[in-house]
Amino acid sequence: MMNHLAIVGGGIAGLASAYYAHKKAASLDIPLKISLLEADSYWGGKIITKRVNGFVIEGGPDTFIVTKPWGVQLCKDLGISHRLKGTNPHQKNTYILHNNKLLPLPDGLFMMIPTNIASMLRTGLLSWSAKLRMGMDFFIPPMSEIGEESMGDFVTRRLGRQAYERMVEPLMSGIYAGDGDKLSLQATFPYLRDLEIKHGGLVKGALAARRSRAANGRKPAPGSRSLFLTLKTGLAEIVEALVAELEDAQVDLSLNTPVVDIRQENEGYTLLLQDGQEINTFGLILAVPSYTAGDLVAELTPNLAQELKAIEYVTTATVSLAFRKEDLVRPLDGYGYVIPRKEGRLALACTWTSTKFPHRAPEENVLLRVFIGRAGQEAHIDWDEAELLSIARNELRLTLGISAEPLQTHVFLWEKAMPQYNVGHVSRLSRIESELDNLPGLALAGNGYTGIGIPDCIHSGELAVERILKKDTRTVLFTN
Ligand SMILES: Cc1cc2nc3c(=O)[nH]c(=O)nc-3n(C[C@H](O)[C@H](O)[C@H](O)COP(=O)(O)OP(=O)(O)OC[C@H]3O[C@@H](n4cnc5c(N)ncnc54)[C@H](O)[C@@H]3O)c2cc1C
Repeated sequence: MMNHLAIVGGGIAGLASAYYAHKKAASLDIPLKISLLEADSYWGGKIITKRVNGFVIEGGPDTFIVTKPWGVQLCKDLGISHRLKGTNPHQKNTYILHNNKLLPLPDGLFMMIPTNIASMLRTGLLSWSAKLRMGMDFFIPPMSEIGEESMGDFVTRRLGRQAYERMVEPLMSGIYAGDGDKLSLQATFPYLRDLEIKHGGLVKGALAARRSRAANGRKPAPGSRSLFLTLKTGLAEIVEALVAELEDAQVDLSLNTPVVDIRQENEGYTLLLQDGQEINTFGLILAVPSYTAGDLVAELTPNLAQELKAIEYVTTATVSLAFRKEDLVRPLDGYGYVIPRKEGRLALACTWTSTKFPHRAPEENVLLRVFIGRAGQEAHIDWDEAELLSIARNELRLTLGISAEPLQTHVFLWEKAMPQYNVGHVSRLSRIESELDNLPGLALAGNGYTGIGIPDCIHSGELAVERILKKDTRTVLFTN
C-alpha cells in the first residue's frame, strides 16, 4: 500500500515518530495510514512505571532534562504539562563515594565543570596537588584541531586525571554507564569542547556560560524551576497519553508484533513479521536499538547494517527497594550518590528516590534505587534477579548501613540498553547518513545515534518524520 508508513519499535522514539507523523500528514493533507509495530507486550520500551501501594517505581528512566526542549514540548502538545513535577528543591545534595565514604559534590559545578573556587579548595574529594592541577586549566592553551577525543583524555588534559576520575567520570557514568576513556567527547558532551575553543579553558568557559544563562533569565518550565522533570505518577504518563492520542488518530497499533526482516520492493519496503504476514509501505522508521536495525537491514544494505551493528550497547539493571523510615541509619538528605569506577563497586549509583521526588513513596517509607552495571564490567555480574538484588542490598549495607529487610523490591534488567557513543561515533554517523541517502523513505530514530535522553529520543522521532514526509511526498505518493 503506497500511502502506508510503518514504524518499528514502540519505545518513546517510535511513539513520538507515530505522533509527529500523524500531525505532519494532517498538516500536508496526506491521507496516510500509519502502523506502529512493537515486539513486546507493552508500549514505552525502557519507560516502565509500576504503581504499587502508594509507591511510584520507575524501572528505567525516572526524569528528563528541561534544557533540551522536546520533552516539555511533547508534554504540552499532549495536554499533560500541568502534571509535570520538578525535583525536591529543599534537599539538593548529591554525594560522591570516595574511599568508601560519601562526600558532598562540591558546590558550583556547572555542566560538570567547577565554577566555585572556594568550594573546590574546601572539598576533601581531591588532593591539593590535584586542585593545583585543576587551576592549570586557566593557563593551558586550547588544543587546535584534534578530531574525536575521548571524554577521559579531554578532561584529563584540561583538569588533570584525579579531577576526571573522582568528579567528572562518576557524573558522566551516571548518564551513559560508559567508559569515559572510550566515550567520544564530540558525541556525548560537545559543548565542553566548544567552551575550550571559545573561552580558552573549561573553567573560564563554564563561568561565562553560567553568567550568560543567569543574564538571559531562562524561563522555568511549567510548574517548576527544576532542571529535571517527571510526571506525577511516573514517566509512563507520557506513554499513556501518546497511546491514547494515537488510538484517537486511528493509528494502527500492534503489540507482540516483532518485525523479522525488511526488503526493498516497488520503490518501497516490505516488512516481514514473525507470524509470516507482510506489510508493504512507502516509508519506514526503524525506532529500535541500532543493532536490531542492523539485523533488519542486513540483506537490504550490508554496509549500513555493519555500521549500525558496530555501535556498542551496555547491559544495566535497576533495583528499587522500599524501607520503613526507622530502618535508616543516616538521613537521606539529597538526591543520592554516584560511584567512581575507581571505587571498584558493581553498583554505579544510588538514587534516594523518595527524597528526590517525595511524592513517590508514602510518608512513613523511603524508596531507594540502585543502578548496576557499567561498560567493561558486564562479565563480572551474573545478571539474574537474585544476584542483582544481592548486589543492591550489599551496596546499601556498605554505604548507608541499611541492613533491614526491604518492604518491597523491584528488579529491572536492561539487556544491551545503553548505547556507547565511543570515539569514532561522529564519523560513523556521517557514514550512516550517506548510506541512508541511497534509501529514500527509510529513517532511523531512537537512542543509538544523537542522544540517549528522553528529549533526544523524542526529537529523533520528529526528525525521522521530517526526513520522510516532505512537501513533495503527496506528489510522490499519488503519482505512484
Ligand atoms: C536504567 C535506565 C535509566 C535511564 N534513565 C534515564 C533518565 O533518567 N532520563 C533520561 O532522559 N533517559 C534515561 N535513560 C535513557 C532512556 O530511557 C532511553 O534512551 C530511551 O527510553 C530509549 O528510547 P527508544 O525509543 O530509543 O528505545 P527503547 O525504549 O529501547 O524502544 C525500542 C523498542 O523497540 C522494540 N523492538 C525491538 N526489536 C523489535 C522488532 N524486531 N520489532 C518490533 N519492535 C522491536 C523494543 O521492544 C522496544 O520497545 C535511561 C535508560 C535506562 C536503561
